[in-house]
Amino acid sequence: SVRVRDVHLSFGSNRVLRGVDLDVPRGATACVIGPSGSGKSTLLRTVNRLIEPDRGDVLLDGRSVRGDDPDALRQRVGMVFQQFNLFPHLSVLRNVTLALRRVRRLGEDEAVAVARAQLELVGLAAKADARPAQLSGGQQQRVAIARALALQPQVMLFDEATSALDPELVKGVLALMADLSAQGMTMIVVTHEMGFAREVADTVAFMDRGVVLEAGEPARIFESAEHPRLRRFLSQVL
Ligand code: ATP
Ligand code: MG
Repeated sequence: SVRVRDVHLSFGSNRVLRGVDLDVPRGATACVIGPSGSGKSTLLRTVNRLIEPDRGDVLLDGRSVRGDDPDALRQRVGMVFQQFNLFPHLSVLRNVTLALRRVRRLGEDEAVAVARAQLELVGLAAKADARPAQLSGGQQQRVAIARALALQPQVMLFDEATSALDPELVKGVLALMADLSAQGMTMIVVTHEMGFAREVADTVAFMDRGVVLEAGEPARIFESAEHPRLRRFLSQVL
């Protein structure tokens, strides 16, 4: 489970997070929606400690991430970004084995075996020897997901993972994320894909100006949102 408790964070005088609370039970998927600049990416970055909150805490399975060694934490919390951040000079296979060797400290043979199995699961076994540039954006994003999953994380964070993709490639990546969710991965998904949020999320959290203004089951959020600010947002994006 992930529990975000009263997290505050400022960049200089810009109060970007102003007391964020979010609960994601083990095996659940939370989708975070909200306007640009509301703090969604910053929130995700506090969960795997890419940045430290000024106040408040994030608990993973009941334990504060503060106590964790950052490398160990990044093994437990996988993150996938809008830009895939693959190493262009390495093959697809090497992109996946690199983290396995460095983070999980696997030997070469074992790392290759784990990486191949993971690429198989995302449907890219045949592309193991290709360079990222030889793949479509959707395939590159699936490699990035495979790379994160190979570390056997307890939690996966997705920050607009499909926003940089051509429309016809979005579906395949969303389907992979939906599968992961159905298999019981604990996930926090920042997305503009309202269809995905409605169908896959257990909870939808609406962020506005550094707080979660309203959260609940998708049906309630999309059909009977309480907050006028959320209703206005939904009327613009749906
Ligand atoms: P978007 O939907 O556009 O991705 P977001 O909800 O993810 O927006 P954030 O990226 O979390 O928003 O940014 C929230 C605020 O924090 C913005 O005002 C942004 O300028 C500011 N901000 C984010 N990262 C930094 C940083 N490293 N240094 C200074 N300010 C930052
Ligand atoms: Mg963002």
